[in-house]
Amino acid sequence: MVKDYFSLRMRATKEQQHISGAERIITAARIESAAAKLIRRAREHAHGQADVINLTLELLENEITEISSLPIRTIKQDDYRLARDEVKDLLVQLGINKQATSKAINLLAKGANPKGENMRGAVIMELTSANRLEGDQFRGVRASRMDYSGEAKERLLKLLEDNELNRTHIPEALALASKVVAHRQIVAELCWSDDPDYTGGYVANQELGYCRFPFLKPEGLGRGGRVFFVQPGLDLSELVDYLEQKPVLVTQLNPNIKEYQTITEVITNAELG
Ligand code: AMP
Repeated sequence: MVKDYFSLRMRATKEQQHISGAERIITAARIESAAAKLIRRAREHAHGQADVINLTLELLENEITEISSLPIRTIKQDDYRLARDEVKDLLVQLGINKQATSKAINLLAKGANPKGENMRGAVIMELTSANRLEGDQFRGVRASRMDYSGEAKERLLKLLEDNELNRTHIPEALALASKVVAHRQIVAELCWSDDPDYTGGYVANQELGYCRFPFLKPEGLGRGGRVFFVQPGLDLSELVDYLEQKPVLVTQLNPNIKEYQTITEVITNAELG
């Protein structure tokens, strides 16, 4: 018998400000325990205790696509300015116009919405023209409906622990990035957190993997975001439908975790092209 899968999504606010969000793709047997965990997470968030918690539980009608997680590379550059230069080099190597790479970094650094604040979702940037394609530049496009199978998640947490890597931020970002760059017209994703206490960020690409930089911004800075770089001439509504609606489950874990000094080493090792 084919099992039914559900999308469970949590969003919590405190004094009408977003403080926490998370989502799961689960079978019926796990609904109650997953809901309890998400509620606990919203109530114990570092940004304060939520006063409104929204939970949405929805039977998934779309077929679930199963994918593998991206390999994890760490580029050990502890000066965030030099790390941003490495990011630019990497993006240019991936075929993204130089002007688009600088524009993307500047947007995340100053706040990518028209008021210079953080967006809730991502910028969609055409990689040749550097034009922004997302319909709503305040909200952006939010990737949703992605998660790990129970087994893949367990193995990932163990792998991160063995490699002394962060187990709170990386799993969710890795699932998101693995879904995002699995779309054939998204060449890369750039992300750094808007959490003032978390300086890490990454560039993700299907061939190169999840290239994380422990320092992509100075400590204490509350500006961050995501940019999805796309091929010219793409079907935007198909892309947005994929990102928002198509359920994707990471069922295979790529166990490849390595450290590098520069992005050139990553590229050489991946034998791009
Ligand atoms: P976070 O990694 O949660 O600190 O998020 C950093 C930034 O990425 C946020 O300010 C949003 O602009 C963007 N973002 C967060 N979640 C998503 C998502 N599910 N899809 C697209 N963009 C997101």
